[in-house]
Amino acid sequence: MNRFENFTTAFVQQIGKKEGPVSPVMINSASFGYGDSETGEGIFEGSVKKPLYARVGNPTSGQLEQILASMDGGIGAVAAASGMGATAMATLSLLKSGDHIISIGGLFGGTYSYFTETLSRFGISTSFFDVDELEAIEGAIRDATKIIFLESVGNPNMRLPDIKAIAEIAGTHGVVLIVDNTITPLSIAPLALGADIVVYSTTKIITGNASSLGGAVVFRPICEGDDKFKGERYGDVHPFIKKMGPMALIANAKKRALRDFGMSANGFGSYLTLLGLETLPLRMDRVVSSVEKVANALYEAGFVINHPSLSTHPHHERYRTQFGKGCGTLLTIDMGSKERAFEFLNRSALVTITANIGDSRTLGLHMASTIYRDFDESTREFLGITPGLIRISIGLENPDDIINDFITARG
Ligand SMILES: *Cc1c(COP(=O)(O)O)cnc(C)c1O
Repeated sequence: MNRFENFTTAFVQQIGKKEGPVSPVMINSASFGYGDSETGEGIFEGSVKKPLYARVGNPTSGQLEQILASMDGGIGAVAAASGMGATAMATLSLLKSGDHIISIGGLFGGTYSYFTETLSRFGISTSFFDVDELEAIEGAIRDATKIIFLESVGNPNMRLPDIKAIAEIAGTHGVVLIVDNTITPLSIAPLALGADIVVYSTTKIITGNASSLGGAVVFRPICEGDDKFKGERYGDVHPFIKKMGPMALIANAKKRALRDFGMSANGFGSYLTLLGLETLPLRMDRVVSSVEKVANALYEAGFVINHPSLSTHPHHERYRTQFGKGCGTLLTIDMGSKERAFEFLNRSALVTITANIGDSRTLGLHMASTIYRDFDESTREFLGITPGLIRISIGLENPDDIINDFITARG
């Protein structure tokens, strides 16, 4: 049984060509000749669909954008230079000074500092909630609330949100829901669950082999009838809706973020990402089954493991019912102290010690001494960062080899 079977055909067929070069054509030019001035005028006006300048679009990235949009059932996507570039694009294209963000769940460190240290300097505030604080989340929505931001899996706290329930709250109050689906591409389809925008770091499992930093934002179409973007809250988007109809969010992201901040993907990076994407369904399938196997075996061997596939996890039921295709490559191990965690990582023959996740290889990192080293005690506690916490991203190795290596490394 291959639970990712639906996408295997689509991806290899969309990425390879039947005629000419089979591998995706990598175009890395920064600029594109228009041929004649009339065409140049048409390109800038939007009536001629040809490349303008690489900051606002690249043909190789365009192929990646189309496939990612189809993967999530979006109307389009915009590739970015990194996952943080994607988050910045999705948020900055909607926010202005005085606005408010509701951020839900254990948050990727970079996103957390982007909200607390950077957006705060521009007069944008963020309130943080646990995934299960639904009443408090609803109560925190005010006129200035522009975005509810959610990660599909808490990294590294491994808590799972009820995405549908949160999307319903966002829908009731006409607030945009952005889901960071970096950890669960294909497993979770946020737009189908009611989200409006999906962000990815393609650096992780989409590329899958550390060959390229990248990101992407996928947008849903604007609805013909009622739509939250037509409400007063999103007045700045209205001119784009008038001009572009269902495609408004793409134009809005390009003009309000990509053009002016330049977090653009490059052709070579997108080429490498396409090569990775081609095998994503196979790798996801492999890793999702390996993660469960490793989590269970290590738990049985007496490790302190955090993974929702274990019946002791508070979101085990949600994992079974709403995350039927898994929750990505991560699990965490609490070794009790920094010393024990360092010993374990240094003794492991198999783990690559690095800040990345979603790689072909199994990766590991001690959390408190690295990504979360600058965070104060109470923030670490909120994010679930204990002194001995190690985050593991399971790779494509034989799961039995991983289990044996971990048990040996524990000593
Ligand atoms: C890595 C990561 C990001 C940031 O992506 P970069 O490509 O490193 O900029 C954002 N969200 C999540 C969940 C991530 O794991």
